Amino acid sequence: MPNSETTPSKFTPRTRKVRILATIGPASDSPEMIRKLAEAGVDAFRLNMSHGNHEDHLRRIETIRALEKELDRPTTILADLQGPKLRVGRFVDGGAMLENGQTFVFDRDETPGDATRANLPHKEIFQGVEPGTRLLIDDGKIVQRVVSATPDRIEAVVEVGGRISNNKGLNVPDVVLPLAALTEKDRADLVFALEQGVDWIALSFVQRPEDVAEARRLIAGKAALLAKIEKPAAIERLEGILELADAVMVARGDLGVELPPEQVPPFQKRIVEAARRLGRPVVVATQMLESMITSPSPTRAEVSDVATAVYDGADAVMLSAESASGSFPIEAVTIMDRIGTTVEADPSYSARVHFTETLPESTTADAIAHAVNTMVDTVSAAAIVCFTSSGSTARRLSRERPAVPMLVLTPSEKTARRLGLLWGAHAVRTRDVASFEEMIAKAKRMALRHGIAKGGQRIIITAGVPFGTPGSTNVIHIVRLVGDELDRYRSGEGRRPAE
Ligand code: PGA
Ligand code: MN
Repeated sequence: MPNSETTPSKFTPRTRKVRILATIGPASDSPEMIRKLAEAGVDAFRLNMSHGNHEDHLRRIETIRALEKELDRPTTILADLQGPKLRVGRFVDGGAMLENGQTFVFDRDETPGDATRANLPHKEIFQGVEPGTRLLIDDGKIVQRVVSATPDRIEAVVEVGGRISNNKGLNVPDVVLPLAALTEKDRADLVFALEQGVDWIALSFVQRPEDVAEARRLIAGKAALLAKIEKPAAIERLEGILELADAVMVARGDLGVELPPEQVPPFQKRIVEAARRLGRPVVVATQMLESMITSPSPTRAEVSDVATAVYDGADAVMLSAESASGSFPIEAVTIMDRIGTTVEADPSYSARVHFTETLPESTTADAIAHAVNTMVDTVSAAAIVCFTSSGSTARRLSRERPAVPMLVLTPSEKTARRLGLLWGAHAVRTRDVASFEEMIAKAKRMALRHGIAKGGQRIIITAGVPFGTPGSTNVIHIVRLVGDELDRYRSGEGRRPAE
């Protein structure tokens, strides 16, 4: 990445605080499309490892990194591992009709199935289910209930029939299955993603905190970890999962299969709130603008759904098929950007977003973050400039949901990229400062350069002394930009070519 201070910024900082995470797929992976998506408002790109091969994903990663260099703006890449997604086996003639009330058998026999039986290629399910456990097939369209189970045969009664067909998805919401957190495919995808230097790994179908711990061990600090909450079991252990994960996703697609759909909104509120309390970025995902897969404009209900996530203070909202395989990826991002911007400009937004009380923990970082947020009001500051190397100060500041722009200056490219999922953080990679004077001068220059404050306005600076020591944030400094500072900066006087 080129140095961000000496080259003119081609990318004005976004005033929008909520982040847009867009899935890249066949409809959107050309260099032109990725550029247009970034310009339309995408902050972070998701690669869905359930689709496409490593070659496809490698091409996408290279395109995003090339664009990042050109736009001189840290860009976030998230690789979403498929996880232990369960599927039924194959059928003679591709499928079969199941009638309400009939008996159906799943077994370990790989012979293609029919209307009486089918193969189930996951031995763990046979061990995990018990009489009464529901088996939901094809996004819950078919419902079966287990009558009996042995290590190689499950007998179930069909409660809601329909056509079952090859490799349809299976959800088993009632029990915690003895499944490994990562499948063989996930492990191979993980090695690939880490080799390519992605910034975030998303873990699907998390059931317990131990799943997150296992993935963390494998990732070994090479990327940040997002846990997808898409199983009722994960909601039960939410606190433990949040403690171990760097971020979470309200994965409403699978959650809405495993739970009755009307239970998803209350859980969405609960997950967003719990994540915000702990200061973990939270992404609201799936079907946000679903109709835009085939239509250039969204339904009113979809607009309202995105707006609700923004009012609740989610860090990011996500597009799946809308941007990966739909006909209107740019339009979907554009509308999402407009919804975010409009909601955040609503005078009632601040009160709604602060409905979740985030009391400071008794740490120096939180004392600083909380105080900075209060000072923004007290002195009517225009912006916050936060020096950080690990990004932890930025995360605690973002947790406070301050009303003004937050410019995060970090010497670490890795940190700058990871911050792309964080509410309100405008991260810039820049050289570290060595003295108090340098800190102030640099904060002022960068605030002007990125257009987040002008002459006459105050900014609030946070940093750690001694400089260059991670985890040392202990300074708050308020400074006013003098009236002619911008002119001096423009004339070159204020620039420091060696930074
Ligand atoms: P998926 O996850 O798109 O990978 O299934 C999101 C969800 O289930 O909502
Ligand atoms: Mn899912």
